[in-house]
Amino acid sequence: MKSEEFILNTPSLSAYKWWPGGLGQTANVAIVMAQLYIKGKHYGLHPFLVRIRNAQTHLPEPGVDVGEIGPKLGLNGVNNGFLGLKDVRIPRKQMLMKNAEVRPNGRFVKGPEPLLTYGTMVFARVMIVRDVSFGLLQAATIATRYSAVRRQSPIAVDQPEPQILDHTTQQAKLFPQIAKGIFFRIAADVVWLIYQSVAKELGAGQRRNLPELHALSCCLKAYCSAEAEEAVEILRKSCGGHGYLRSSNFPEIYGAVTAACTYEGENTVLLLQTARFLVKQYVDGLKRKVLPSSVTYLRNATPPKWGKSVELKTLVRLLEYAATESVRSAFEYQKKQRKIFKSEPMVTNKAGIRLIQSATLHARAFLARNASEEAEKLRRQLKPALAEVLVQLTEIFVLDLCLAMEQLKTRFERLLEEFRVNAVTVVDGFDFSDRVLGSTLGCYDGHVYERLLAEACQSPLNEEPVNQTFQTHLKPLMQGKL
Ligand SMILES: Cc1cc2nc3c(=O)[nH]c(=O)nc-3n(C[C@H](O)[C@H](O)[C@H](O)COP(=O)(O)OP(=O)(O)OC[C@H]3O[C@@H](n4cnc5c(N)ncnc54)[C@H](O)[C@@H]3O)c2cc1C
Repeated sequence: MKSEEFILNTPSLSAYKWWPGGLGQTANVAIVMAQLYIKGKHYGLHPFLVRIRNAQTHLPEPGVDVGEIGPKLGLNGVNNGFLGLKDVRIPRKQMLMKNAEVRPNGRFVKGPEPLLTYGTMVFARVMIVRDVSFGLLQAATIATRYSAVRRQSPIAVDQPEPQILDHTTQQAKLFPQIAKGIFFRIAADVVWLIYQSVAKELGAGQRRNLPELHALSCCLKAYCSAEAEEAVEILRKSCGGHGYLRSSNFPEIYGAVTAACTYEGENTVLLLQTARFLVKQYVDGLKRKVLPSSVTYLRNATPPKWGKSVELKTLVRLLEYAATESVRSAFEYQKKQRKIFKSEPMVTNKAGIRLIQSATLHARAFLARNASEEAEKLRRQLKPALAEVLVQLTEIFVLDLCLAMEQLKTRFERLLEEFRVNAVTVVDGFDFSDRVLGSTLGCYDGHVYERLLAEACQSPLNEEPVNQTFQTHLKPLMQGKL
């Protein structure tokens, strides 16, 4: 206290910080979020500016244990780090005191709620939805182009082998992923606009729309990253054996997309946060309160009626009804659990699986409504031929969300057939350069086989016509001299 210093410690190995990008070898200062104790009293988590490496030598400062965490599944260009601290002293003024203050006499003074901090977390999650849609569209471009080059198994008797893109099952693997990439991106753009308006409100000290935006960004980040991860795997497998080659670039894309399921909030934890918001809104709906626009449906969803031809808006209402039923069931279940368990966290834990399902269904309903509304707006600005392609993609996207339903299967198959002729042009339209795709299978010129062989020839094992291990191991074995 007298020296006006804080002393920072990570008291156990499990208290070490892991993962920040650039921490391993690059950063020389860090903002450390640490539990604050003054005279043994706990004041919660606060940010402190800590020098971790010397400004001149870049050596770790005394008491700082810092390093890189080693090879990862992907994103190996980033030096993620670990950090442990042992009795590291910093001046009092290196606590970042915008939202809470420790005075020279040791008195703790709490400031206003850090609203803008929440805004930053939302910002990062919206960016992730954009990023994973890029990864997904890159993978879809590679797989679609390869499917136009690769030929297999005649479909009709006496016909030559067709492009694999003509097989219905191949279309069912590719086209929904193209549609997902497009509509995830459109959803991210819409949520980005909401974010900008809420950020302005937060700047003016208002938080009215923050809970809705927070809930939306959590479930979209979780749903879109999980779907994109699965989609990249589907697309890799759709390229058969060659999809397994590193030079296809699927492993790199997968590594980047799957990481997004974990960072900036692990997906399950995020879905639970959305679910808490949904249950609260459902209860407000029962009291006939006005609900935020993205969850208005929770108040009045009813099972939609089926005509002979099912319109997209009927499917959207169906998804909203499914989400409402799921939230209702989670709410009822929690009510029952409260009779058994006294503590609310125990109740939430018991209801976890149902809550996650509710948040997932909410994300699906939001994405479907958003896709159909945004496509309708865009369609009016397009030439008829292009508008038709957009309608096909919207239908593929929404039908794919509802595909468990038998009634929709024939329509889905017809759509695949109709979209077939547009598939390559649409992925070309994403305008990824060959350098960005970095794939032997997905280049614009379609010279797949030339690139595959050229890449194989680069393998270090092909540097000598006869590998030296032939002399040292194989030859003695073949000649029985081992
Ligand atoms: C590529 C990558 C980059 C990263 N970059 C950074 C970075 O720059 N800066 C940084 O600070 N961090 C970074 N991280 C760390 C990342 O933010 C965390 O790994 C993430 O928040 C998950 O936390 P965790 O690892 O402690 O997992 P845990 O929380 O231990 O999760 C493990 C399991 O427990 C479950 N679980 C945890 N809590 C609950 C709960 N309440 N209810 C139900 N289940 C639960 C999870 O669902 C999961 O299945 C990065 C991670 C990765 C993979």
